[in-house]
Order: sequence, then structure tokens, then C-alpha cells
Amino acid sequence: MNENMEKVRCLIIGSGPAGYTAAIYAARADLKPVIYQGMQPGGQLTITTEVDNFPGYPKGITGPEMMEEFKQQAERFGTDIRFGVVTEVDLSKRPFLVKADDGKTISAETVIIATGASAKWLGMESERKFMGMGVSGCATCDGFFYRGQEVAIVGGGDTAAEEATYLAKLCKKVYMIHRRGELRASKAMQHKVLNTANIEMVWDSAPEEVLGDESGLTGVRVRNVKTGELRDLRVMGFFVAIGHKPNTELFGGQLELDEMSYIKTKPGTTQTSLEGVFACGDVQDHHYRQAVTAAGSGCMAAIEAERYLSN
Ligand code: NDP
Repeated sequence: MNENMEKVRCLIIGSGPAGYTAAIYAARADLKPVIYQGMQPGGQLTITTEVDNFPGYPKGITGPEMMEEFKQQAERFGTDIRFGVVTEVDLSKRPFLVKADDGKTISAETVIIATGASAKWLGMESERKFMGMGVSGCATCDGFFYRGQEVAIVGGGDTAAEEATYLAKLCKKVYMIHRRGELRASKAMQHKVLNTANIEMVWDSAPEEVLGDESGLTGVRVRNVKTGELRDLRVMGFFVAIGHKPNTELFGGQLELDEMSYIKTKPGTTQTSLEGVFACGDVQDHHYRQAVTAAGSGCMAAIEAERYLSN
């Protein structure tokens, strides 16, 4: 084994509620966990505003503040928190081999995967072209730039509904483009969207092209999927809120994934198809996807890692 290789008992990849909770439990169990925060320290909650459904915060808390508190709690028990991205994982050897972009190579006895999920894009060339110049994947991050203007959002789930109502507070008008005639969002969110005066639903429609020039985005062309009719919406901002994909690129071919590329875990546990490798949070859950369920599964992963190490 390479002398420069760092030995770690419990390596945690990802720093959302699942990763930090795993770190809190692993640190308290004296596993001296090391956590790589990943590309988006704090995870998806850092791009949300108010979190009103996490128990223990009766007045609500913002996502970024909550994740800072999770981080501080993990640090309090001695977690080694690193700002960096894991670039390579070799789960064929034991201990497992992990490389990170800080140049470190780690030999890990257990690995807890908490890499979460990322926003999906429509995949149009014009969407890519105007990314950051009018196209955004996060209304709560970028909505501010479009105060008093007209914007469009695509998607019909809870995220799109939440972001549309958020944008409606800032913007003059919000077009909500959905490919069907009924929203997927929860009834409460549907009610909110459909009763917000400055949200106009663009039903049965799909974005065809993002329109713009050197100054940035000028509109979105949508096609009615039933009639084929085209309509140009004159907007300055275009928000994409069509769901997420799990961050499992590092593990393909090494761990069993399901048909949507989420990591498969044994029911009722965080155990993956490889002993000593555990998965928690959104990377293995496309059903609940809540901060509190992610945190719960992070706790399970750390307890299971501890038991695995003591056997
Ligand atoms: P969802 O997968 O629930 O919804 C995605 C939406 O985007 C659907 O309406 C879907 O259409 C549409 N869509 C998907 N792909 C395309 C495409 N290529 N072109 C056009 N439209 C497309 O994702 P969300 O991110 O909204 O929610 C994920 C999970 O998180 C859900 O379980 C949700 O309930 C939960 N959540 C909960 C919140 C809360 O409780 N406060 C807040 C936000 C999310 P279609 O309906 O036709 O499939």
C-alpha cells in the first residue's frame, strides 16, 4: 500500500442532511469520520428558502442556515469536514480506495454514500447556450434578478409549484409550462398555484426553444403537444424544475443501481450490494426525498457502518 495513503475507518461522500447526520453518529461512535462535501456543500437544501417541515424548528429555518447547523454539529464531535470532491472510487478492493480532487488517496474501511441527486435539464441546445444568461435551475437562487419582470417555469411537480409561487411574489408575471393538463404537485401546492393571480398556466405544452440574442434570453417558444400550435412567451428568465437524477456516476458498474440509476439498498437498511458500503439520502430514495428522511437514513448508515466494523 502506498505510504502516502490516508487510512480512514469511515468515509462519507456528500454533505446534505444524510451525510452530516451520518457524520454526527459516526463521530460519536468514535469512527473518526472524514466527509467530502462535494460540489455543492450542504446539498440541495442550500438552494431552497424556508424549511418549515423539519421537526425542531417551530418557526422554520432557511435551508442554508439549517445545513450550517448540521455541519457545526458534525464538527462538534470531531468530524473531519473537507471542502472537496471525490473523483474516483474503487470498491473492488478492501479497504476501498477513494481519490479526491485535493490530491488525497484514501483507504477506507467503510464508505457511506450520501451524494444526493441533482436537477434535470431539458437538454435543448438553446437551454445550454443561455444557462446563467436567463436560464436557471433554481428560482430561489436567481429569482431576485428578475424582479418586476415576466418569467417562465417548466414542470408540474412540487418543486415547480413551489418555485412558481416564489417567483410570483417577485415577478410581474409567471408562465408555468406543463406538458400535461394536470399538475403532479400535492393538492395544497396546486391550490396555491392555481389561486395566484399572476401565474398563468400553459397547459399541455413543452418548451421547444429558448429564444435570445447577445444581451441574453428574450423568450421561450412552446409547442402545444395536443394541437402542435407554437407560442412565443416574452420572458427574461426561464426556470427549469423538472425533477432530479441521482448522483451515482462514480459507482456505476460497482454497485447495484435500479432502473433510474438510484443505488439499491436492502429494504429497511442502508446496505448496498457490497458489504461495508452504505447509501443514504436521495441517492437511494426517489420516493420520500425529504430532509428528515434523508437525515434518518444517514443515522442508519452510520449505525450500520459501526456494526460492520465491530464484527
Ligand atoms: P417530480 O418528479 O415530482 O416532478 C417533475 C415534473 O417535471 C413533473 O410534473 C413532470 O411532468 C415534469 N417533467 C419531467 N421531465 C420533463 C421534461 N423532459 N419536460 C417537461 N416536463 C418534464 O420532481 P419535483 O422536483 O417537483 O419533486 C421531487 C420530489 O420532491 C417529489 O416527491 C415532491 O413531492 C418532493 N418535493 C416536496 C416539497 C415539499 O414537500 N415542500 C418541495 C419540492 C419537492 P409529469 O407530471 O408529466 O411527469
